[in-house]
Amino acid sequence: MLIRDQQEQISWVSDFMTPGYHQFCMNTPYADILAAQVREVVTNYKADGIFLDIVGVRECYCQHCIAEIRRRGSDPRNRDDMKSMWEDTYFRYAQKMNNAVHAIRPGLPVFHNSSHVDRGRRDLAQVNTHLELESLPTGGWGYDHFPLSARYAQNLGLDYLGMTGKFHTSWGEFGGFKHPNALRYETALSLANGARCSIGDQLHPTGIMDLATYSLIGEAYKEVEAKEGWCRDTTAVCDVALLSVEAAYHASGSPPTGHNHADTGAVRILLEGHYLFDVIDAEADLAPYKVIILPDDIAITGTLQTKLKSFLTEGGKVLATGRSGLKQGGTGFALDFGVQWQGASEFKPSYFKPSFEIPSLRSSSFVIYTESQDVSLNPNGTVTGSKENPYFNRALFTFCSHQHTPSELQAAGPGMVEGPDGIYLAWNVFEDYALKGSLPVKEIVMHALDRLLGQKTLFTNLPSQGVTTLQAQKGHNRWIHHVLYASPVRRGKNVEVIEDLLPLIDTRVSIAAAEPVREVYLAPQRIALPFQQENGTVSYEIPTWVCHQMVVIQFGE
Ligand SMILES: [Zn+2]
Repeated sequence: MLIRDQQEQISWVSDFMTPGYHQFCMNTPYADILAAQVREVVTNYKADGIFLDIVGVRECYCQHCIAEIRRRGSDPRNRDDMKSMWEDTYFRYAQKMNNAVHAIRPGLPVFHNSSHVDRGRRDLAQVNTHLELESLPTGGWGYDHFPLSARYAQNLGLDYLGMTGKFHTSWGEFGGFKHPNALRYETALSLANGARCSIGDQLHPTGIMDLATYSLIGEAYKEVEAKEGWCRDTTAVCDVALLSVEAAYHASGSPPTGHNHADTGAVRILLEGHYLFDVIDAEADLAPYKVIILPDDIAITGTLQTKLKSFLTEGGKVLATGRSGLKQGGTGFALDFGVQWQGASEFKPSYFKPSFEIPSLRSSSFVIYTESQDVSLNPNGTVTGSKENPYFNRALFTFCSHQHTPSELQAAGPGMVEGPDGIYLAWNVFEDYALKGSLPVKEIVMHALDRLLGQKTLFTNLPSQGVTTLQAQKGHNRWIHHVLYASPVRRGKNVEVIEDLLPLIDTRVSIAAAEPVREVYLAPQRIALPFQQENGTVSYEIPTWVCHQMVVIQFGE
């Protein structure tokens, strides 16, 4: 009843002599055994909810799966048919468990955890009564995974929580602890993204609750309790929507393969640049946004083109990078950026010479490591920076120094162009930022975004590591502005920790708000904050704060 791959290997561990988990196939009688166990738990215990871990759509070639595909009149060599059978298996499993729970306790929360909520698969999300966004920053997810996941989840219409852990590293680390400051920050990050909170622990087999663990969790939850009133039933106020590459792949019928760097890099730039943003899939309503980002690898399908065209007609703008904006099949641009597509560049890396100065470094030929596209200018396009190629690619008989070859310092076509539909940047800049984190790439993208946005809803002088969100609490006629600051540092091998929380002083904020503002105050402290409201902009300064501060903008005469 275990999952088998094509070589009949079991998953997770290689064999029965290796300690570790074995995964069951849900297309076997095991699903009924599990359902009976679920019924037993729901009947005998007063559970708050049922959480089924490490489940999802799984590839399997076990005897039951092979027998079923043949019963269906197909063949295990037909991968598409196998895939749709694996999906059916998962939905059947989820339905069976939900029925088992709800036949006994209607309405009891149930969540099926696969450690990641797939962007672009709303059907998978809908088998749950709510979403739990598993994201242990020190357990391999990193500190930027949660914002990416939460900015997507907030628009799915389900309650959702951010799940972190009390461990120094990850699950199963008995005797491992993080600093209380890390949990204070992680739970605050959940609140700032409209999420509820969950902190994972693993109970000792004796059932004794560990004092250190629960005082650690208590420190974070004491703060959460004080803040809750300003965090319920919120919707995000956003300028920018990032169309997720992961979601776009799902929408085009081909699931993403490998690690998706474009989404990660884009979220980092949006966070560090203090933009108000959502992460969206192809089903999302585009109307609330001013700018849609198509990061690196978004092919424009017919449906997406129709949707983007109506967004553009309403005055929206698009920022497209790399292969994004090309028609499916890659024959040319589906949107009008004032350029003609020529093909993928033969040079890698290559250089971008902006015709503007970037704030930190003025102007130079900046190296960008990722693939770029060669484009030529149309009469309706305005070039805001050129591509420059290196003298040659690094190869056996042509190489220079430790790394890549310098720029030829000759314009080799447009690198950034503005056309009727928005701005096009010729490199996979978001992948580049995820992998290299280079300052010029970030400031180049921010220049493009700022041009397209014109008036941003929120401006702040927070440092780049600071995080900000704006959540509307419509029921209370108020906006909650969140600022957060912590600097994870590397300790040990590949473990990022938060230990020190340093105070920030005089954080200046201005927020576009047309409605009259009655008062601005710090929450949960309930301390009034002096503010001005002029020409539809409310401004204030947060004097000194640590870790997380909420500022309430209360509307009304
Ligand atoms: Zn199977």
